[in-house]
Amino acid sequence: MKLGWYRILLILMLFASSCAFGCASSTPQPTAKWKEATVKCAATGEEIGEKDALKSEYKGQIYYFCCESCKVAFDKDPERFIKR
Ligand SMILES: [Zn+2]
Repeated sequence: MKLGWYRILLILMLFASSCAFGCASSTPQPTAKWKEATVKCAATGEEIGEKDALKSEYKGQIYYFCCESCKVAFDKDPERFIKR
């Protein structure tokens, strides 16, 4: 019984130390800032930050645009951009 406990303790310690090592090496990088939501311009397909994107609603769906001219082009003929 005593040996069994020692073995469990040893295994637990191994797990604990390996976790500590793993956690230390995978310290979160300051990339979290870049996890900002991005959307794709419905006209060009370019990725843009959701905050900077221009929006247009068409048939109950929100579409995003990287610039005013994309939005204008979309609003003129949305079907052209939706069809793939
Ligand atoms: Zn654009």
